[in-house]
Amino acid sequence: MADVRLVFLGAPGSGKGTQAARVSEGLGVPAISTGEMLRDAVAAGSELGERVEQIMAAGALVDDATMAEVIRGRLAQDDTKNGFLLDGYPRTIGQVAILEQILGELGATLTAVVLIDVREEELVRRALERRRDDDTEEVIRTRLDVYREKTEPLVEYYRTKGLLREVDGNESIEEVTAALMGVLPVSA
Ligand code: ADP
Repeated sequence: MADVRLVFLGAPGSGKGTQAARVSEGLGVPAISTGEMLRDAVAAGSELGERVEQIMAAGALVDDATMAEVIRGRLAQDDTKNGFLLDGYPRTIGQVAILEQILGELGATLTAVVLIDVREEELVRRALERRRDDDTEEVIRTRLDVYREKTEPLVEYYRTKGLLREVDGNESIEEVTAALMGVLPVSA
């Protein structure tokens, strides 16, 4: 089994979640989607869910301390021992530092960070096409703005570290998966 720890970066609508699930299957390591974990918490009506529901509905980011608890708990689970794919974490420079600390404690390092690059007009088109129940165009715009402001700086950070791998996300799902498998420094 591949021993691989990946971060997937990409704007909302980049297909990051879809690709993380496909690559996860190919490599045999779990895909961890913090967005999905938070949506599950909201659906379950847990204390965490109540805390994050309004923030998510507005398209804003949940605070770094709350997300640290979420990701720390998830990475402590046994199924991540041989690796994992992170979809939606880290999303801020603060979260980058927290992730490095957690990985340090686990004696692990990131294998690579993958950026799925998609043109702005394609992102908006896709977002409007598959919008979730309560997504208004304004919330979709907010998510994109938050991505540009808070998350995009991570691209340069990881590039400087020599970890970044980029793929063109404007192609079909199958083509993007193939491109991803091609740039990863691991084999299935
Ligand atoms: P998208 O596919 O639109 O990027 P996700 O499913 O990854 O959305 O996440 C949905 C929402 O969950 C985000 O808009 C944000 O409110 C919250 N969220 C998920 N991951 C994080 C994170 N790492 N930090 C802060 N908020 C997060």
